[in-house]
Amino acid sequence: MTEPKQKPKKPRGVAQLLAGVCIACGARCQSVCPVNCIEMTDDGEPIIDAPRCIGCQKCVKVCPVQALEMYFTPEEQQILAELAASAAPVEEEIDPEAAALAKKLAAYRGVWVFVEQTEGEPAKVSWELLGVGKELAASLGVELCAMVIGDQVEHLCTEAFAHGASKVYLLDHPLYWHYRTESYVEACCHLIEKYKPEVILMGATGMGRDLAGAVATRVGTGLTADCTGLAIDDKRNLMQTRPAFGGNIMATIMCDKFRPQMSTVRPNVMPMTERVEGATGTIIRDPFTVPEESILTKVIEIIRDSHGKGAVDITGAEFIVSGGRGMMGPENFAMLQELADELGGVVGASRSAVDAGWMPGDRQVGQTGKTVRPKIYIACGISGAIQHLVGMQDSDLVIAINRDKNAPIFEVATYGIVGDLFQVIPAITKTIRALKHKSTV
Ligand SMILES: Cc1cc2nc3c(=O)[nH]c(=O)nc-3n(C[C@H](O)[C@H](O)[C@H](O)COP(=O)(O)OP(=O)(O)OC[C@H]3O[C@@H](n4cnc5c(N)ncnc54)[C@H](O)[C@@H]3O)c2cc1C
Ligand code: SF4
Ligand code: SF4
Repeated sequence: MTEPKQKPKKPRGVAQLLAGVCIACGARCQSVCPVNCIEMTDDGEPIIDAPRCIGCQKCVKVCPVQALEMYFTPEEQQILAELAASAAPVEEEIDPEAAALAKKLAAYRGVWVFVEQTEGEPAKVSWELLGVGKELAASLGVELCAMVIGDQVEHLCTEAFAHGASKVYLLDHPLYWHYRTESYVEACCHLIEKYKPEVILMGATGMGRDLAGAVATRVGTGLTADCTGLAIDDKRNLMQTRPAFGGNIMATIMCDKFRPQMSTVRPNVMPMTERVEGATGTIIRDPFTVPEESILTKVIEIIRDSHGKGAVDITGAEFIVSGGRGMMGPENFAMLQELADELGGVVGASRSAVDAGWMPGDRQVGQTGKTVRPKIYIACGISGAIQHLVGMQDSDLVIAINRDKNAPIFEVATYGIVGDLFQVIPAITKTIRALKHKSTV
Protein backbone atom coordinates (compact mmCIF):
# COMPACT_ATOMS: atom_id res chain seq x y z
CA MET A 1 0.00 0.00 0.00
CA THR A 2 1.34 3.42 -0.89
CA GLU A 3 1.05 6.50 1.33
CA PRO A 4 -1.49 9.05 -0.09
CA LYS A 5 0.46 11.86 -1.74
CA GLN A 6 0.35 15.01 0.39
CA LYS A 7 -0.91 18.16 -1.30
CA PRO A 8 2.00 20.59 -1.70
CA LYS A 9 1.69 23.80 0.30
CA LYS A 10 2.01 27.05 -1.58
CA PRO A 11 5.35 28.66 -0.65
CA ARG A 12 4.98 32.11 0.94
CA GLY A 13 8.39 33.56 0.08
CA VAL A 14 10.04 36.47 1.86
CA ALA A 15 9.81 40.20 1.25
CA GLN A 16 12.69 41.97 -0.47
CA LEU A 17 13.41 45.59 -1.39
CA LEU A 18 13.81 46.61 -5.03
CA ALA A 19 16.85 48.84 -5.44
CA GLY A 20 16.22 52.56 -6.07
CA VAL A 21 12.41 52.52 -5.77
CA CYS A 22 11.80 53.31 -2.07
CA ILE A 23 10.83 56.94 -1.46
CA ALA A 24 11.29 56.75 2.33
CA CYS A 25 7.60 57.35 2.89
CA GLY A 26 7.88 57.21 6.65
CA ALA A 27 8.31 53.49 7.41
CA ARG A 28 4.83 52.35 6.44
CA CYS A 29 6.25 48.89 5.71
CA GLN A 30 7.83 48.66 9.15
CA SER A 31 4.64 49.75 10.89
CA VAL A 32 2.57 46.88 9.43
CA CYS A 33 5.02 44.01 9.88
CA PRO A 34 3.43 41.62 12.41
CA VAL A 35 6.75 40.01 13.41
CA ASN A 36 8.86 43.20 13.61
CA CYS A 37 11.42 41.95 11.14
CA ILE A 38 11.90 45.31 9.38
CA GLU A 39 14.52 47.82 10.52
CA MET A 40 14.86 51.28 8.94
CA THR A 41 18.14 52.80 7.76
CA ASP A 42 19.04 56.42 8.50
CA ASP A 43 17.88 57.18 4.95
CA GLY A 44 14.43 55.82 5.79
CA GLU A 45 14.74 52.62 3.73
CA PRO A 46 13.78 49.20 5.09
CA ILE A 47 16.17 46.33 5.87
CA ILE A 48 14.28 43.06 6.01
CA ASP A 49 15.46 40.27 8.29
CA ALA A 50 14.66 37.50 5.79
CA PRO A 51 14.94 34.48 8.12
CA ARG A 52 12.28 36.01 10.38
CA CYS A 53 9.92 37.07 7.58
CA ILE A 54 6.75 34.96 7.52
CA GLY A 55 5.79 36.07 4.00
CA CYS A 56 2.51 37.73 4.99
CA GLN A 57 2.90 40.34 2.19
CA LYS A 58 1.59 43.17 4.39
CA CYS A 59 4.61 45.37 3.69
CA VAL A 60 4.27 44.71 -0.06
CA LYS A 61 0.63 45.75 -0.02
CA VAL A 62 1.14 48.91 2.02
CA CYS A 63 4.10 50.31 0.07
CA PRO A 64 2.83 53.27 -1.98
CA VAL A 65 5.46 52.86 -4.72
CA GLN A 66 5.74 49.06 -5.05
CA ALA A 67 9.29 49.12 -3.69
CA LEU A 68 8.86 45.68 -2.12
CA GLU A 69 8.22 42.31 -3.71
CA MET A 70 8.08 38.70 -2.62
CA TYR A 71 11.20 36.64 -3.25
CA PHE A 72 11.00 32.89 -3.86
CA THR A 73 14.03 30.55 -3.86
CA PRO A 74 14.55 28.45 -7.04
CA GLU A 75 13.08 25.44 -5.16
CA GLU A 76 10.02 27.44 -4.16
CA GLN A 77 9.66 28.69 -7.73
CA GLN A 78 9.77 25.06 -8.87
CA ILE A 79 6.90 24.16 -6.51
CA LEU A 80 4.93 27.19 -7.68
CA ALA A 81 5.46 26.15 -11.30
CA GLU A 82 4.39 22.53 -10.55
CA LEU A 83 1.30 23.73 -8.74
CA ALA A 84 0.39 25.95 -11.63
CA ALA A 85 0.96 23.16 -14.20
CA SER A 86 -1.00 20.50 -12.30
CA ALA A 87 -3.77 22.95 -11.59
CA ALA A 88 -4.09 21.04 -8.32
CA PRO A 89 -6.15 22.94 -5.84
CA VAL A 90 -3.71 24.89 -3.74
CA GLU A 91 -4.17 24.88 -0.03
CA GLU A 92 -4.41 28.58 0.70
CA GLU A 93 -3.20 29.25 4.19
CA ILE A 94 -5.61 31.38 6.14
CA ASP A 95 -3.85 34.25 7.84
CA PRO A 96 -4.87 33.59 11.47
CA GLU A 97 -4.26 37.21 12.43
CA ALA A 98 -6.54 38.52 9.66
CA ALA A 99 -9.21 35.94 10.51
CA ALA A 100 -9.16 36.94 14.20
CA LEU A 101 -9.41 40.61 13.29
CA ALA A 102 -12.33 40.00 10.92
CA LYS A 103 -14.14 38.06 13.68
CA LYS A 104 -13.53 40.82 16.21
CA LEU A 105 -14.80 43.55 13.87
CA ALA A 106 -17.86 41.53 12.82
CA ALA A 107 -19.15 41.63 16.39
CA TYR A 108 -19.84 45.37 16.00
CA ARG A 109 -22.89 46.51 14.05
CA GLY A 110 -24.93 49.71 13.71
CA VAL A 111 -24.39 53.44 13.31
CA TRP A 112 -24.98 55.48 16.47
CA VAL A 113 -25.38 59.20 17.00
CA PHE A 114 -24.93 60.75 20.43
CA VAL A 115 -27.85 63.13 21.04
CA GLU A 116 -26.34 66.05 22.91
CA GLN A 117 -28.66 67.94 25.24
CA THR A 118 -28.48 70.52 27.99
CA GLU A 119 -31.33 70.48 30.48
CA GLY A 120 -33.43 68.61 27.93
CA GLU A 121 -32.69 71.05 25.07
CA PRO A 122 -31.13 69.16 22.15
CA ALA A 123 -28.12 70.48 20.24
CA LYS A 124 -28.99 70.96 16.55
CA VAL A 125 -25.80 69.19 15.49
CA SER A 126 -27.30 65.90 16.75
CA TRP A 127 -30.00 66.03 14.06
CA GLU A 128 -27.43 66.99 11.42
CA LEU A 129 -25.46 63.90 12.42
CA LEU A 130 -28.51 61.68 12.11
CA GLY A 131 -28.70 62.88 8.49
CA VAL A 132 -25.21 61.72 7.56
CA GLY A 133 -25.61 58.73 9.88
CA LYS A 134 -28.58 57.59 7.80
CA GLU A 135 -26.43 57.51 4.66
CA LEU A 136 -23.69 55.57 6.45
CA ALA A 137 -26.20 53.09 7.88
CA ALA A 138 -27.67 52.56 4.40
CA SER A 139 -24.20 51.89 2.93
CA LEU A 140 -23.49 49.38 5.69
CA GLY A 141 -26.98 47.85 5.61
CA VAL A 142 -27.43 48.39 9.38
CA GLU A 143 -29.69 50.29 11.75
CA LEU A 144 -29.34 53.98 12.53
CA CYS A 145 -29.54 54.42 16.29
CA ALA A 146 -29.40 57.32 18.71
CA MET A 147 -27.89 57.39 22.18
CA VAL A 148 -29.86 59.61 24.57
CA ILE A 149 -28.44 60.22 28.04
CA GLY A 150 -30.02 62.69 30.47
CA ASP A 151 -32.77 63.22 33.01
CA GLN A 152 -36.39 63.32 31.79
CA VAL A 153 -35.27 63.24 28.20
CA GLU A 154 -37.68 60.73 26.69
CA HIS A 155 -39.05 63.46 24.41
CA LEU A 156 -35.67 63.40 22.63
CA CYS A 157 -36.33 59.82 21.53
CA THR A 158 -39.37 61.04 19.58
CA GLU A 159 -37.22 63.76 18.01
CA ALA A 160 -34.52 61.23 17.15
CA PHE A 161 -37.10 59.06 15.35
CA ALA A 162 -38.38 62.13 13.51
CA HIS A 163 -34.81 62.75 12.30
CA GLY A 164 -34.26 59.22 11.01
CA ALA A 165 -33.23 56.96 13.90
CA SER A 166 -35.00 53.61 14.09
CA LYS A 167 -33.78 52.75 17.58
CA VAL A 168 -32.82 54.81 20.63
CA TYR A 169 -30.71 53.64 23.55
CA LEU A 170 -32.01 55.66 26.49
CA LEU A 171 -30.37 56.25 29.85
CA ASP A 172 -32.82 58.43 31.76
CA HIS A 173 -31.86 59.14 35.37
CA PRO A 174 -31.34 62.17 37.68
CA LEU A 175 -27.63 61.28 37.75
CA TYR A 176 -27.39 62.53 34.17
CA TRP A 177 -29.16 65.89 34.68
CA HIS A 178 -25.90 67.84 34.33
CA TYR A 179 -23.18 66.84 31.92
CA ARG A 180 -20.24 65.51 33.87
CA THR A 181 -17.45 63.75 32.04
CA GLU A 182 -17.23 60.84 34.46
CA SER A 183 -20.90 59.86 34.53
CA TYR A 184 -21.38 60.32 30.77
CA VAL A 185 -18.20 58.39 29.92
CA GLU A 186 -19.31 55.52 32.16
CA ALA A 187 -22.76 55.58 30.53
CA CYS A 188 -21.42 55.64 26.96
CA CYS A 189 -18.85 52.93 27.60
CA HIS A 190 -21.48 50.74 29.20
CA LEU A 191 -23.73 51.03 26.12
CA ILE A 192 -20.82 50.47 23.72
CA GLU A 193 -19.59 47.40 25.53
CA LYS A 194 -23.09 45.97 25.77
CA TYR A 195 -24.45 46.71 22.29
CA LYS A 196 -21.25 47.10 20.20
CA PRO A 197 -21.94 49.76 17.54
CA GLU A 198 -19.49 49.96 14.64
CA VAL A 199 -19.72 53.73 14.14
CA ILE A 200 -20.35 56.51 16.69
CA LEU A 201 -20.82 60.16 15.69
CA MET A 202 -20.75 63.07 18.12
CA GLY A 203 -20.94 66.84 17.68
CA ALA A 204 -17.60 68.66 17.83
CA THR A 205 -19.00 70.92 20.54
CA GLY A 206 -17.51 71.55 23.97
CA MET A 207 -19.38 68.56 25.34
CA GLY A 208 -18.83 66.30 22.34
CA ARG A 209 -15.10 66.94 22.18
CA ASP A 210 -14.73 66.26 25.90
CA LEU A 211 -16.82 63.10 25.83
CA ALA A 212 -15.61 61.56 22.56
CA GLY A 213 -11.92 61.69 23.49
CA ALA A 214 -12.48 60.16 26.91
CA VAL A 215 -14.76 57.42 25.55
CA ALA A 216 -12.40 56.50 22.71
CA THR A 217 -9.54 56.19 25.18
CA ARG A 218 -11.57 54.03 27.53
CA VAL A 219 -12.84 51.62 24.88
CA GLY A 220 -9.45 51.56 23.15
CA THR A 221 -10.40 52.80 19.71
CA GLY A 222 -9.52 55.65 17.35
CA LEU A 223 -11.24 59.03 17.09
CA THR A 224 -11.13 61.53 14.25
CA ALA A 225 -12.08 65.03 15.33
CA ASP A 226 -13.73 67.75 13.24
CA CYS A 227 -14.58 65.62 10.22
CA THR A 228 -15.91 67.39 7.16
CA GLY A 229 -16.78 64.26 5.16
CA LEU A 230 -17.85 60.72 6.10
CA ALA A 231 -18.32 57.69 3.84
CA ILE A 232 -17.95 53.91 3.89
CA ASP A 233 -15.36 51.94 1.87
CA ASP A 234 -15.79 48.43 0.46
CA LYS A 235 -14.40 46.86 3.65
CA ARG A 236 -16.97 48.54 5.94
CA ASN A 237 -14.39 51.07 7.14
CA LEU A 238 -15.51 54.61 7.89
CA MET A 239 -13.57 57.04 5.69
CA GLN A 240 -13.22 60.14 7.85
CA THR A 241 -12.12 63.23 5.95
CA ARG A 242 -10.80 66.31 7.73
CA PRO A 243 -8.36 69.15 7.06
CA ALA A 244 -4.76 68.37 8.02
CA PHE A 245 -1.43 70.19 8.08
CA GLY A 246 -2.99 73.56 8.87
CA GLY A 247 -5.83 72.97 6.45
CA ASN A 248 -3.56 72.73 3.42
CA ILE A 249 -4.60 69.17 2.61
CA MET A 250 -7.66 67.05 3.23
CA ALA A 251 -6.73 63.76 4.91
CA THR A 252 -8.92 60.66 4.89
CA ILE A 253 -8.41 58.72 8.10
CA MET A 254 -9.52 55.16 8.80
CA CYS A 255 -9.64 53.09 11.93
CA ASP A 256 -9.52 49.64 10.31
CA LYS A 257 -8.44 47.50 13.27
CA PHE A 258 -10.63 48.78 16.09
CA ARG A 259 -14.31 49.30 16.74
CA PRO A 260 -16.31 51.41 17.17
CA GLN A 261 -15.04 53.94 14.65
CA MET A 262 -15.56 57.33 16.27
CA SER A 263 -15.83 60.78 14.67
CA THR A 264 -16.80 64.25 15.78
CA VAL A 265 -18.32 66.74 13.35
CA ARG A 266 -18.75 70.46 13.93
CA PRO A 267 -22.20 72.06 13.92
CA ASN A 268 -23.33 73.23 10.46
CA VAL A 269 -20.89 71.03 8.56
CA MET A 270 -23.53 68.43 7.64
CA PRO A 271 -26.90 69.49 6.20
CA MET A 272 -29.93 69.35 8.45
CA THR A 273 -32.22 66.35 8.02
CA GLU A 274 -35.81 66.74 7.12
CA ARG A 275 -38.04 66.12 10.10
CA VAL A 276 -40.64 63.39 9.60
CA GLU A 277 -43.53 64.07 11.96
CA GLY A 278 -44.94 60.96 13.63
CA ALA A 279 -42.00 58.68 12.83
CA THR A 280 -41.57 55.95 15.42
CA GLY A 281 -39.00 53.37 16.48
CA THR A 282 -37.82 51.20 19.32
CA ILE A 283 -36.65 52.58 22.64
CA ILE A 284 -34.16 50.42 24.54
CA ARG A 285 -34.26 51.65 28.14
CA ASP A 286 -31.13 50.81 30.04
CA PRO A 287 -31.13 51.27 33.83
CA PHE A 288 -27.34 51.70 34.07
CA THR A 289 -26.10 54.23 36.64
CA VAL A 290 -22.98 54.69 38.71
CA PRO A 291 -22.96 55.56 42.42
CA GLU A 292 -23.01 59.33 42.91
CA GLU A 293 -20.18 58.95 45.49
CA SER A 294 -17.86 57.62 42.76
CA ILE A 295 -18.20 60.81 40.70
CA LEU A 296 -15.68 63.39 41.81
CA THR A 297 -17.23 66.33 39.93
CA LYS A 298 -20.13 68.03 41.71
CA VAL A 299 -22.18 70.80 40.09
CA ILE A 300 -22.64 73.46 42.76
CA GLU A 301 -24.01 76.29 40.65
CA ILE A 302 -24.54 77.10 36.97
CA ILE A 303 -23.25 80.53 35.98
CA ARG A 304 -24.61 81.54 32.59
CA ASP A 305 -22.30 82.80 29.85
CA SER A 306 -20.87 86.17 30.94
CA HIS A 307 -21.60 87.59 27.49
CA GLY A 308 -25.25 87.38 28.51
CA LYS A 309 -27.91 88.70 26.19
CA GLY A 310 -25.47 90.59 24.01
CA ALA A 311 -23.68 87.39 22.93
CA VAL A 312 -24.00 86.61 19.25
CA ASP A 313 -24.07 83.06 17.97
CA ILE A 314 -22.89 83.29 14.38
CA THR A 315 -23.40 79.55 13.83
CA GLY A 316 -27.18 79.89 13.84
CA ALA A 317 -27.38 83.08 11.73
CA GLU A 318 -29.11 83.08 8.35
CA PHE A 319 -27.23 86.15 7.10
CA ILE A 320 -23.59 86.85 7.90
CA VAL A 321 -21.56 89.86 6.81
CA SER A 322 -17.89 89.04 7.50
CA GLY A 323 -14.93 91.37 7.45
CA GLY A 324 -11.23 90.63 7.04
CA ARG A 325 -7.95 92.48 7.06
CA GLY A 326 -9.26 94.58 4.15
CA MET A 327 -11.49 96.40 6.65
CA MET A 328 -8.36 98.28 7.73
CA GLY A 329 -9.48 98.89 11.34
CA PRO A 330 -12.09 98.12 14.03
CA GLU A 331 -14.03 101.33 13.43
CA ASN A 332 -14.97 100.20 9.91
CA PHE A 333 -16.87 97.18 11.22
CA ALA A 334 -19.74 99.57 12.03
CA MET A 335 -20.33 99.67 8.27
CA LEU A 336 -20.72 95.86 8.25
CA GLN A 337 -23.05 96.01 11.26
CA GLU A 338 -25.29 98.45 9.38
CA LEU A 339 -25.56 96.08 6.44
CA ALA A 340 -26.11 93.10 8.76
CA ASP A 341 -28.88 95.00 10.56
CA GLU A 342 -30.65 95.70 7.27
CA LEU A 343 -30.52 91.99 6.47
CA GLY A 344 -31.40 90.83 9.98
CA GLY A 345 -28.04 89.13 10.25
CA VAL A 346 -24.81 89.23 12.24
CA VAL A 347 -21.22 90.29 11.68
CA GLY A 348 -18.47 87.67 11.36
CA ALA A 349 -14.74 87.99 10.84
CA SER A 350 -11.65 86.32 9.44
CA ARG A 351 -8.89 85.27 11.79
CA SER A 352 -6.73 88.20 10.72
CA ALA A 353 -9.43 90.59 11.88
CA VAL A 354 -9.77 88.72 15.16
CA ASP A 355 -6.02 88.51 15.70
CA ALA A 356 -5.78 92.25 15.10
CA GLY A 357 -8.28 92.73 17.93
CA TRP A 358 -10.91 94.25 15.63
CA MET A 359 -13.54 91.61 16.47
CA PRO A 360 -14.01 89.14 19.36
CA GLY A 361 -12.91 85.52 18.91
CA ASP A 362 -16.47 84.15 18.94
CA ARG A 363 -17.10 85.88 15.58
CA GLN A 364 -14.25 84.09 13.80
CA VAL A 365 -15.27 81.93 10.87
CA GLY A 366 -12.99 79.12 9.75
CA GLN A 367 -10.94 76.15 10.75
CA THR A 368 -10.02 77.48 14.18
CA GLY A 369 -13.23 79.49 14.48
CA LYS A 370 -16.84 78.56 13.77
CA THR A 371 -18.31 76.66 10.85
CA VAL A 372 -21.30 78.49 9.43
CA ARG A 373 -23.94 77.61 6.87
CA PRO A 374 -26.07 80.76 6.43
CA LYS A 375 -28.44 81.52 3.57
CA ILE A 376 -26.18 84.42 2.54
CA TYR A 377 -22.52 84.96 3.46
CA ILE A 378 -21.00 88.29 2.44
CA ALA A 379 -17.18 88.26 2.61
CA CYS A 380 -15.73 91.77 2.70
CA GLY A 381 -11.99 92.27 2.33
CA ILE A 382 -11.30 88.59 2.94
CA SER A 383 -8.79 86.90 0.65
CA GLY A 384 -10.23 83.37 0.98
CA ALA A 385 -7.46 81.35 2.60
CA ILE A 386 -8.33 77.65 2.81
CA GLN A 387 -8.64 77.92 6.61
CA HIS A 388 -11.36 80.52 6.16
CA LEU A 389 -13.10 78.69 3.30
CA VAL A 390 -13.58 75.47 5.28
CA GLY A 391 -15.72 77.42 7.72
CA MET A 392 -18.11 79.03 5.22
CA GLN A 393 -17.99 77.33 1.84
CA ASP A 394 -21.24 75.44 2.45
CA SER A 395 -23.24 78.65 2.76
CA ASP A 396 -26.24 78.65 0.39
CA LEU A 397 -25.05 81.82 -1.36
CA VAL A 398 -21.69 83.59 -1.08
CA ILE A 399 -21.09 87.19 -2.11
CA ALA A 400 -17.45 88.29 -2.13
CA ILE A 401 -16.24 91.87 -2.24
CA ASN A 402 -12.53 92.25 -2.90
CA ARG A 403 -10.43 94.67 -4.90
CA ASP A 404 -8.11 91.85 -6.02
CA LYS A 405 -9.81 90.02 -8.89
CA ASN A 406 -7.54 87.01 -8.32
CA ALA A 407 -8.44 86.59 -4.66
CA PRO A 408 -9.26 82.91 -3.96
CA ILE A 409 -12.53 83.88 -2.27
CA PHE A 410 -13.98 84.36 -5.78
CA GLU A 411 -13.55 80.62 -6.42
CA VAL A 412 -16.29 79.83 -3.89
CA ALA A 413 -18.37 82.94 -4.48
CA THR A 414 -21.79 82.78 -6.12
CA TYR A 415 -21.46 86.50 -6.91
CA GLY A 416 -18.14 88.34 -6.91
CA ILE A 417 -17.77 92.11 -6.77
CA VAL A 418 -14.32 93.38 -7.72
CA GLY A 419 -14.00 96.79 -6.12
CA ASP A 420 -13.27 98.90 -3.09
CA LEU A 421 -15.39 97.69 -0.21
CA PHE A 422 -15.58 101.21 1.23
CA GLN A 423 -17.63 102.16 -1.81
CA VAL A 424 -19.45 98.88 -2.45
CA ILE A 425 -20.77 98.14 1.06
CA PRO A 426 -22.45 101.53 1.70
CA ALA A 427 -23.96 101.30 -1.79
CA ILE A 428 -25.47 97.87 -1.07
CA THR A 429 -26.81 99.03 2.33
CA LYS A 430 -28.34 102.11 0.71
CA THR A 431 -29.99 100.05 -2.03
CA ILE A 432 -31.48 97.58 0.46
CA ARG A 433 -32.84 100.46 2.55
CA ALA A 434 -34.39 102.04 -0.54
CA LEU A 435 -35.98 98.74 -1.60
CA LYS A 436 -37.39 98.20 1.87
CA HIS A 437 -38.75 101.72 1.98
CA LYS A 438 -40.33 101.25 -1.45
CA SER A 439 -42.05 98.07 -0.40
CA THR A 440 -43.58 99.74 2.67
CA VAL A 441 -45.05 102.76 0.89
C1 LIG B 1 -3.69 76.57 11.54
C2 LIG B 1 -4.34 77.78 10.97
C3 LIG B 1 -5.67 78.01 11.27
C4 LIG B 1 -6.31 79.14 10.75
N1 LIG B 1 -7.63 79.32 11.02
C5 LIG B 1 -8.27 80.37 10.45
C6 LIG B 1 -9.67 80.56 10.66
O1 LIG B 1 -10.34 79.84 11.41
N2 LIG B 1 -10.28 81.59 10.02
C7 LIG B 1 -9.60 82.44 9.18
O2 LIG B 1 -10.23 83.35 8.62
N3 LIG B 1 -8.28 82.29 8.98
C8 LIG B 1 -7.60 81.28 9.61
N4 LIG B 1 -6.28 81.17 9.42
C9 LIG B 1 -5.55 82.25 8.75
C10 LIG B 1 -5.64 82.19 7.25
O3 LIG B 1 -4.60 81.38 6.75
C11 LIG B 1 -5.48 83.60 6.65
O4 LIG B 1 -4.27 84.16 7.10
C12 LIG B 1 -6.61 84.55 7.03
O5 LIG B 1 -7.86 83.94 6.77
C13 LIG B 1 -6.47 85.81 6.18
O6 LIG B 1 -7.43 86.72 6.61
P1 LIG B 1 -7.97 87.87 5.60
O7 LIG B 1 -8.52 87.23 4.40
O8 LIG B 1 -8.83 88.74 6.40
O9 LIG B 1 -6.63 88.69 5.32
P2 LIG B 1 -5.78 88.79 4.01
O10 LIG B 1 -5.37 87.45 3.53
O11 LIG B 1 -4.70 89.77 4.28
O12 LIG B 1 -6.77 89.38 2.94
C14 LIG B 1 -7.23 90.69 2.94
C15 LIG B 1 -8.00 90.89 1.65
O13 LIG B 1 -8.61 92.15 1.66
C16 LIG B 1 -8.59 92.67 0.35
N5 LIG B 1 -8.72 94.13 0.47
C17 LIG B 1 -7.88 95.00 1.06
N6 LIG B 1 -8.38 96.25 1.01
C18 LIG B 1 -9.57 96.17 0.34
C19 LIG B 1 -10.54 97.13 -0.04
N7 LIG B 1 -10.42 98.41 0.27
N8 LIG B 1 -11.61 96.69 -0.73
C20 LIG B 1 -11.77 95.38 -1.05
N9 LIG B 1 -10.87 94.43 -0.71
C21 LIG B 1 -9.78 94.83 -0.01
C22 LIG B 1 -7.25 92.23 -0.21
O14 LIG B 1 -7.27 92.20 -1.61
C23 LIG B 1 -7.13 90.82 0.39
O15 LIG B 1 -7.63 89.84 -0.48
C24 LIG B 1 -5.60 80.06 9.93
C25 LIG B 1 -4.27 79.81 9.65
C26 LIG B 1 -3.65 78.69 10.17
C27 LIG B 1 -2.21 78.46 9.82
S1 SF4 C 1 6.21 40.01 4.31
FE1 SF4 C 1 5.20 40.30 6.31
S2 SF4 C 1 6.64 39.38 7.77
FE2 SF4 C 1 7.78 39.70 5.87
S3 SF4 C 1 8.74 41.69 6.11
FE3 SF4 C 1 6.81 42.04 5.04
S4 SF4 C 1 5.38 42.51 6.68
FE4 SF4 C 1 7.15 41.59 7.67
S1 SF4 D 1 6.63 51.44 2.45
FE1 SF4 D 1 7.81 51.44 0.54
S2 SF4 D 1 8.35 53.61 0.22
FE2 SF4 D 1 7.74 53.39 2.37
S3 SF4 D 1 9.66 53.04 3.47
FE3 SF4 D 1 8.77 51.03 3.01
S4 SF4 D 1 9.70 50.44 1.08
FE4 SF4 D 1 10.07 52.62 1.29
